[in-house]
Amino acid sequence: SFTLAIVGRPNVGKSTLFNRLAGQKLALVDDTPGVTRDRRVHDGKLYDLKFKVVDTAGLEETGSETLEGRMRAQTEIAIAEADVILFMIDAKGGITPADMTFADLVRKSGKPVVLVANKSESRGAEAGMYDAFRLGLGEPCPISAEHGQGIPDLRDAIVEAIGKERAFAEEEEAEAEARPAVASQETTLIGDDIEDPDAEEIPAYDASKPLRIAIVGRPNAGKSTLINTMLGEERLLTGPEAGITRDSISVDWEWRGRRIKLFDTAGLRRKSRVQEKLEKLSVSDALRAIRFAEVVIIVFDATIPFEKQDLQIADLVIREGRAPVIAFNKWDLIENRQEVLADLREKTERLLPQVRGLRAVTISGETGQGIDQLMENVALTHEIWNRRVSTGRLNRWLEGVVTHHPPPAVSGRRLKIKYMTQVKTRPPGFVVSCSRPEAMPQSYVRYLINGLREQFQMPGVPIRLSLRTSD
Ligand code: GDP
Repeated sequence: SFTLAIVGRPNVGKSTLFNRLAGQKLALVDDTPGVTRDRRVHDGKLYDLKFKVVDTAGLEETGSETLEGRMRAQTEIAIAEADVILFMIDAKGGITPADMTFADLVRKSGKPVVLVANKSESRGAEAGMYDAFRLGLGEPCPISAEHGQGIPDLRDAIVEAIGKERAFAEEEEAEAEARPAVASQETTLIGDDIEDPDAEEIPAYDASKPLRIAIVGRPNAGKSTLINTMLGEERLLTGPEAGITRDSISVDWEWRGRRIKLFDTAGLRRKSRVQEKLEKLSVSDALRAIRFAEVVIIVFDATIPFEKQDLQIADLVIREGRAPVIAFNKWDLIENRQEVLADLREKTERLLPQVRGLRAVTISGETGQGIDQLMENVALTHEIWNRRVSTGRLNRWLEGVVTHHPPPAVSGRRLKIKYMTQVKTRPPGFVVSCSRPEAMPQSYVRYLINGLREQFQMPGVPIRLSLRTSD
């Protein structure tokens, strides 16, 4: 059994979902204004999942001058108690600054999170869904807590977030008791796959190994056409039967003497082709391709770029820590190229800020224009993704940064940063030791990441940074 918290700003619909999960009208029945309920954890159920739900619902109704402060405190407690967080937004109302604040709290906790977009049945919810990517919490799961829509998907998303083992683990009282009351020493702020720095030897960059590339994108973006042109032959056969897919496999290729393994997405294509736009992209198929790859070429249709699915895919690639390159395809169809290109570049930076400097190339899979340049960018991004910075250089840089723009004081005490080291590559991952990692604002962590990116020339790849307590 695990513990789940529903977190979000007032009025997004937390109570409604809470009632659905806990199966009782708790928020309404129990709530006496000004009185704090003592029982805050309830049994919850969702199909085959059994869990505890931490209740923050109703708290916002208690009149208080420090409403925001209290909500924040309550949210922090709920987050601390939870194994998984359902971060809820109102897709109809769109993203507000309050959403951003709460999202920061959630991200800071480093806990598994499901971004839940409520009221998705409403008119105008589409824009809110799109907007939700800005939170950097991954792909939103659309539901209607009121009408019960999207609840099966929510169940799947929860299982995915915490993993099957955890989701279906039996009650273990002993383990619960053994768990420390305070959060562990390490706070992972961005990224969650940084392990013990001593555990991993960073391998040197090896250009003789085949470079693994996946080509992903939504149906009809032009993936198959591109692969065929690259390979110079009709390697991807079109299947006669609807819905039949074959397992994805890799195809060996060579580019300027460099050995390449291309992920053959024929299966993916045929399936999408048949079901056309009715069905959303199969995330598991895309994931398989993405996990196979080191570099992922995300094919956008330049005539209809930045659709919701494009962003979902890009988000997946980034979250999986792969080296992304965008190919704006069908460039042969574009007339006012300068204008369109400027627009595409602006959107890339704005909509995918996690990977500042992301490389994007215009191509035509059909005529072959731009493929060479695309491959140059693939090789370069791959090299950056493998980049390692010496501890000496890192700390000389860090010293200057901390002197010129020190971390803020929190509750009257200045936060101190001591030391930084790179603990992994593919993508680059760093650990910073500092006083009170839990108090370090997210904005400062971003500042460090952006600084690293610039100073050590790592544009366009995900960068992981975690904080540790210094002794
Ligand atoms: P996939 O579903 O991503 O594999 O897309 P396809 O490769 O099957 O391409 C979808 C459609 O776009 C087909 O009709 C292609 O002929 C067309 N197409 C693909 N690439 C280009 C391109 O570079 N230029 C133009 N004009 N059309 C393209």
